[in-house]
Amino acid sequence: MTDALLQELGAILGPQHVLTGEAAAPYLTDWRKLVRGRARFVLRPGSTDEVAAVMRACAAHGVPVVPQGGNTGQVAGGVPGPDGGAVLLSLARMNRVHAIDTENDTITVEAGCVLQAVQQAAEEAGRLFPLSLGAEGSCTIGGNLGSNAGGTQVLRYGNARELCLGLEVVLPDGEVWHGLRGLRKDNSGYDLRDLFIGSEGTLGIITAATLKLFPLPAARCTALAALGSIQGAGRFLGRCRAGFNAALTGFELMSGACLRLVTETYPQQRTPFATLDAPWYVLLEISDAEDEAHGQARLETVLGGALEAGEISDVAVSQTLSQTRSLWHLRESITLALAEDGKCIKHDVSLPASTIPDFVEHTDTALQRQFQGVRSFIFGHLGDGNLHYNVARPKAADDAALHAMQPGLSELVHDAVHALGGSISAEQGIGRIRTADLARYKQPVELRLMRAIKQALDPKGLMNPGVLLP
Ligand code: FAD
Repeated sequence: MTDALLQELGAILGPQHVLTGEAAAPYLTDWRKLVRGRARFVLRPGSTDEVAAVMRACAAHGVPVVPQGGNTGQVAGGVPGPDGGAVLLSLARMNRVHAIDTENDTITVEAGCVLQAVQQAAEEAGRLFPLSLGAEGSCTIGGNLGSNAGGTQVLRYGNARELCLGLEVVLPDGEVWHGLRGLRKDNSGYDLRDLFIGSEGTLGIITAATLKLFPLPAARCTALAALGSIQGAGRFLGRCRAGFNAALTGFELMSGACLRLVTETYPQQRTPFATLDAPWYVLLEISDAEDEAHGQARLETVLGGALEAGEISDVAVSQTLSQTRSLWHLRESITLALAEDGKCIKHDVSLPASTIPDFVEHTDTALQRQFQGVRSFIFGHLGDGNLHYNVARPKAADDAALHAMQPGLSELVHDAVHALGGSISAEQGIGRIRTADLARYKQPVELRLMRAIKQALDPKGLMNPGVLLP
């Protein structure tokens, strides 16, 4: 059967786009190197028609399909499991921009377009595509939508879901849903688009998307503020929301431990402060419709008020584009610095913003009581109530010791999140590594409805098995 399928796939894609052995290997390990999967073949289609033909062939042979974009996902949703029965379908070659409509403020792109290339195409047309995340140089629109990515601009523009107006999707049997509509209003039935967004490749293959564009801000101004305690962060956020209104486009919380890890790991990275001894920092950004000077003056007024009120203990406003870039670079380097530090246990949680200070203090204390010496590296999109609550091994311990702690430690963190009405996956998804958590925290009725949707769209269970649904 493998030979017959191989021949069919070779005829559809050309043998050079059906990879095996060493050529396939780079696709089979996830970004965090948690899962080393196996696949019959890695397929690299170049068009929607080719994806549809591949899906028809795989459905006929009963072979599961794992879609992959840039493979930057943090929950191993884009790599196959260990049994080797599936094919991996990489969308990387489907990277064309189909159309930009500046009157409708939309851009239509293929799913394999790298996010940064979409941002650039929008900018060249005098528009903003605001989705922005640390992996934007490698992640793809298909993966962003498949995982409903969040990132640093959600506060103002929403998640990937809110930025998408239409989709083209190849269904598990190879039929194509042509839903590339650029409509901001469409109440003509169930929202099929929203089913596929965030479905982590378990319902169909997204092959193209129509996305919303926005006016380019005249200036982006950033500041790094130091906070004496996390208890003041909520008041500071409230002040910034009131003071900047819709101009507030980023509000990123970072613990002092995160920033110190970045500067220790990458000594060439500079911070505006002589020392990094505050327990918490906030990187905030406003997008100003007038100009740089106007934006900076607004920042200085609001931040001056926060200093006077004691909500922040120090602040540096960036004066140049290069200072702005290096502030964002610090923030975006946290994930990379953590990867250099060794394995860490990651939690991507969301909570009502008002509960975050108490959640952090109580969870940190409980962790030290049960897992003495572990180091927390907490950062996140505070404006969205989203924390990346990462826990690294005690300095003297090794990765194996941390691995042994993982089940109990994650249960402690997630139980605390659940008790406060939060979610155990804010933006990264469930993937292969959080399916047991989903089973623990989702209501039975939610799981039943999710399974009913899966059964309706993928009755043979061929789309990304082992991912998302327990
Ligand atoms: P992949 O990793 O290839 O796949 C992700 C999921 O989508 C998988 O389940 C896969 O099967 C599915 N999928 C991929 N393509 C398709 C398709 N065409 N059709 C259907 N399903 C598909 N995430 C955030 O949300 N916010 C952040 O701030 C953020 N920061 C990050 C920073 C760094 C340094 C890194 C490495 C990652 C970060 N991530 C973040 C996680 C990751 O970048 C995002 O989840 C991203 O959206 C994944 O895109 P990708 O193309 O790499 O998808």
